[in-house]
Amino acid sequence: MPAKIHVTIWNEFIHERQDEKVRAIYPHGIHQLIAGFLSKHQGIEARTATLDQPENGLTESVVNQTDVLIWWGHQAHDQVSDGVVRRVQNKVLEGMGLIVLHSAHHSKIFRALMGTNCSLRWREAGEKERLWNIEPGHPIAEGIGDYIELPHAEMYGERFDIPDPDKVIFISWFEGGEVFRSGCCWERGHGRIFYFRPGHETYPIYHHEQIQKVIINAVRWAKPRVMIADKCPMAEPLEKIPKYKPQNKNKSQ
Ligand code: ZN
Repeated sequence: MPAKIHVTIWNEFIHERQDEKVRAIYPHGIHQLIAGFLSKHQGIEARTATLDQPENGLTESVVNQTDVLIWWGHQAHDQVSDGVVRRVQNKVLEGMGLIVLHSAHHSKIFRALMGTNCSLRWREAGEKERLWNIEPGHPIAEGIGDYIELPHAEMYGERFDIPDPDKVIFISWFEGGEVFRSGCCWERGHGRIFYFRPGHETYPIYHHEQIQKVIINAVRWAKPRVMIADKCPMAEPLEKIPKYKPQNKNKSQ
């Protein structure tokens, strides 16, 4: 049997504790709901981490045991420590997968990995959203069909200030007229990153079967293929190079 994919679902876990409307949809938090449907799948082992835990729940040991990290945040991006962000960023560059959900477009970790502001336009009007599947052959879109329809969603519209994705899987249309690149893939170092737009806390988005399917597919797609720590070595030549003199290996280039 192949090794299990170890997934950590990180949530700032504030709305669910402060707002009754959100708590009614996610009584144990968005992170527990996601961990619940992921754990039903053979081959996936899910754990959770939250902002209020020591080192924001992402100690070196937790990060080292994580194959794919899922991130949901909204109002407390600034409270995540810079040290934790660097630790997660380094791990992605080594090969860990990262799935960035909804309002985590403004998280420190996503902005650090993208190198842009990742801003967008938004509106909360409970309008209809249709996510068009434009890459039906991609593993993240497997079993999704032509589109996903959400009866009530928060609107995110272009321009989304991101670097060009390696692949755009979903494009959203909103009732109010905007469009948005809702499912985007990148590689950074050896790691794979997927941004997935749906997931506003006052709508039951993560209860939706197709949304769950996309997240499960994305976990499988983003799992590490290699884990390689950063190094920048001086290399002795493989062949004899005339006039070449061995160099000081300790000197950085
Ligand atoms: Zn939202």
